[in-house]
Amino acid sequence: MGRRLGVMGGTFDPIHYGHLVTAEEALEQFELEGVLFVPTGRPWMKEHEVVSPPEDRYLMTVIATASNPLFSVSRIEVDRDGPTYTVETLRSLKNELDADLFFVTGADAILEMLQWKEPEELFELAHFIAATRPGYDIAGFEVPAHARDAVSVMNIPALAISSTDIRSRVQAGGPIRYLVPEGVKSYIEKAGLYR
Ligand code: NAP
Repeated sequence: MGRRLGVMGGTFDPIHYGHLVTAEEALEQFELEGVLFVPTGRPWMKEHEVVSPPEDRYLMTVIATASNPLFSVSRIEVDRDGPTYTVETLRSLKNELDADLFFVTGADAILEMLQWKEPEELFELAHFIAATRPGYDIAGFEVPAHARDAVSVMNIPALAISSTDIRSRVQAGGPIRYLVPEGVKSYIEKAGLYR
């Protein structure tokens, strides 16, 4: 068996325990050697939304993953100019690392990606792991017929935690302890994010 590496893509605004549990579960279920977290640079589909600066999201991801020797963080998308396309990221990582890649992210994002951007090349570059929240109707998760073998669905109860909810809580002065690692909570306060 060759090297098997997870690539965890996300905006991580902020990273939370749901993301960390997802990565850990993928590591176990897919017998991965490690998981590389890749915070997005400029998510082109979110141009109408306010997204925190890439450097803040990158640093929070480093803080959250620092204690796990099997987790690491890449600057590949943060440092790349222009909009973020997963196909370009996977192409570079595939060239750089001699490994089978397993791209992990939220189910909605995976469906979008398969439907919009050069899906044929995406399938050659990686296997896709779609993480879903409890209550998400997996029957309604319509993987296009040509992508069935390329996508696995993973149900993660801890994904009831969401970045959107955390941002709203901070804005409203509500608690986020135990939803994000303590270091991420401190970083949010120090940088004045989501006010
Ligand atoms: P999103 O639309 O903000 O998120 C969709 C859902 O997935 C949300 O519920 C989100 O929850 C969850 N999610 C996001 N990342 C996750 C992760 N790593 N593990 C578990 N759940 C996750 O998605 P996004 O963050 O913008 O994009 C996710 C990834 O897909 C990124 O790597 C992005 O570059 C890629 N993408 C690529 C294309 C393309 O190349 N055309 C298009 C779309 C997305 P939270 O808000 O709590 O994270």
